Amino acid sequence: MSVAIVNALLEKTKGFSIEETLVFLASEYQGKVVFSTSFGQEDQVITALIAKNDLPITIFTLDTSRLFQETYDVFYKTLKKYKKEIKVFFPEAASVEKLLETKGPNSFYDSVENRKECCFIRKVAPLTKALKGNAIWITGLRAEQSENRNSFDLFEYDAHFDIIKFNPLLKWSLKEVEDYLEKNNVPQNALHKQGFVSIGCAPCTRAITADEDIRAGRWWWESSHKECGLHQK
Ligand code: SF4
Repeated sequence: MSVAIVNALLEKTKGFSIEETLVFLASEYQGKVVFSTSFGQEDQVITALIAKNDLPITIFTLDTSRLFQETYDVFYKTLKKYKKEIKVFFPEAASVEKLLETKGPNSFYDSVENRKECCFIRKVAPLTKALKGNAIWITGLRAEQSENRNSFDLFEYDAHFDIIKFNPLLKWSLKEVEDYLEKNNVPQNALHKQGFVSIGCAPCTRAITADEDIRAGRWWWESSHKECGLHQK
């Protein structure tokens, strides 16, 4: 069934621009289209497109409570510029309290298992809540961000969250993203100018050098997959 929906969406939106596709989705799935932002460059492009077209698409963010001050700054600037509500999902207080009481505030450095536990509490569980009952989840994923993301499609069914994902910037290059942001004067995270490309929680993100992979700065002490469980394939 979900494969049929994905194929139908691909067919119906064939030849559409990103903006036309967003308009189509907002009308076809009224009140059930959501976009998750972490205020990264790609996400800022999509926020600008939604705001510019005044689309009835819910924008939400996951506040893990471990974000950089610079991320909160761009959050604030985005609210001020576009005057569009951004819903916030926090982790469940009791789960964070228990985690800190039993393992301390920096357990993610100790093992992949602990890191995934923290990501689950602070990101995956709130995301599950945010996506519940919706039909379309818009993301800022780009294929060149990682090997895993290179296997994503424009539309796809996410069985884990039981939702159809729309990845409008999948084929965009970083240069295209940067050009759009510049040209349209879109607020950006100040950390991008300090070598941070993919930005997540403060204790788990570092700047990268020009010869490093885009996601090398995420959980840099780990050698395995640079994903937190939000985008699975
Ligand atoms: Fe926890 Fe780090 Fe994952 Fe943020 S990125 S949820 S601090 S492990």
